[in-house]
Amino acid sequence: MIDAFRRLYGSADGIRVFRAPGRVNLIGEHTDYNLGFVLPVALHLATYVATAPARDGKLRIYSEDRRESAEWPAGEIAALTPRRHWTDYPIGVAQELIRAGSPVAPANLLVRSTVPEGSGLSSSAALEVSSALAMLAGRRMAPLDLARLCQRAERNFVGMPCGIMDQYISVFGEERAAICIDCRSLKHQVVRLPDGVAFVAVNTMVKHQLAGSAYKERTEQCAAAVDVVRARHPRVESLRDVTPAMFDEAESSMPPIIARRARHVVTEDARVVEFVAACREGAVERMGELFEASHRSLQHDYEVSCDELDFLVDAALGIEGVYGARMTGGGFGGCTVNMMQPDVVPHFEREIVQLYHERFGIQPGIYPCRPSWGAEEEKNLERIPAVAQL
Ligand code: ADP
Ligand code: MG
Repeated sequence: MIDAFRRLYGSADGIRVFRAPGRVNLIGEHTDYNLGFVLPVALHLATYVATAPARDGKLRIYSEDRRESAEWPAGEIAALTPRRHWTDYPIGVAQELIRAGSPVAPANLLVRSTVPEGSGLSSSAALEVSSALAMLAGRRMAPLDLARLCQRAERNFVGMPCGIMDQYISVFGEERAAICIDCRSLKHQVVRLPDGVAFVAVNTMVKHQLAGSAYKERTEQCAAAVDVVRARHPRVESLRDVTPAMFDEAESSMPPIIARRARHVVTEDARVVEFVAACREGAVERMGELFEASHRSLQHDYEVSCDELDFLVDAALGIEGVYGARMTGGGFGGCTVNMMQPDVVPHFEREIVQLYHERFGIQPGIYPCRPSWGAEEEKNLERIPAVAQL
């Protein structure tokens, strides 16, 4: 990466590299913006941002994936407006840093990533967090402040009203463990994953158009469900506060579609809690059942799945040694996450690729999930992948 940097900018004097991982969410889908529980794992797939001071007063950024660079006078960053371009992510971060009293110095930046873009493995948060660390260039920021700052960048500048999960796990990830985040208190527990189970993400390679508009619609539907419950329970502020018993009592007062959306969120929160307990007991069969139950709830109640995801889940569940499968991420495409015995992974990969290709004529992406540590400076430059590799 140092050589690439030198070729691009002529010098690598004072270079530092910062790494932030992508993630796969094991369970707890569409619960984060309802202030409930999520259980993501930080991946070995990560975004690296190399940075060195620039002497000409400019902030420059080049993405190897896009083979595209952009530059601005550093003094003008605070006044930039979004342009619906990948640079909105780092510029959004820069503006939030400035707003938080942390000026952004002139610098040359180089972005390299092994997180597939737009697949639900959160390349956006990996880019935000690695850019933020690069622009901080070693200045300290409390981890939770860093995650929240990057979330604000995506909400305020990119214009995506996302929850906190992606940025949080990119900052707080741990090796060999998942992180159970309480999206209300913004505290988390480290959940060690049992031995004898492997997780593999499979990418449908599709992204249906619905994704953006459906997200807004779901948030409105969840708010409508909260209004119904609140009529009897005034202290309820979000679906997080709605117990299964409260939901049962209110269900008949809700329009059917609102009831289905709320049922997903209420039962999904309960599944996360049960999954964490099953994880701690090493109850892998139960973990697998909860995976499948989560998928069915997303498919039928929250209605954010699609044919490609449903096919991958059904196909995976038919493979010997697979404990469970579900869509992960926002839906309408992106990835599934599959839980299986470690020794069946090679067979699973061959089978799922063949079945999916036969049905859709598409080669799916396969990403074995290695739970990895959260964002930090990468001091061991040998560890940076030479080219984008999965
Ligand atoms: P996801 O976070 O699931 O990968 P998003 O749609 O939230 O999907 O974010 C993907 C967007 O993030 C891309 O369209 C691009 O604008 C930006 N992005 C992510 N990684 C890179 C990268 N390495 N180089 C340039 N832009 C990137
Ligand atoms: Mg994203």
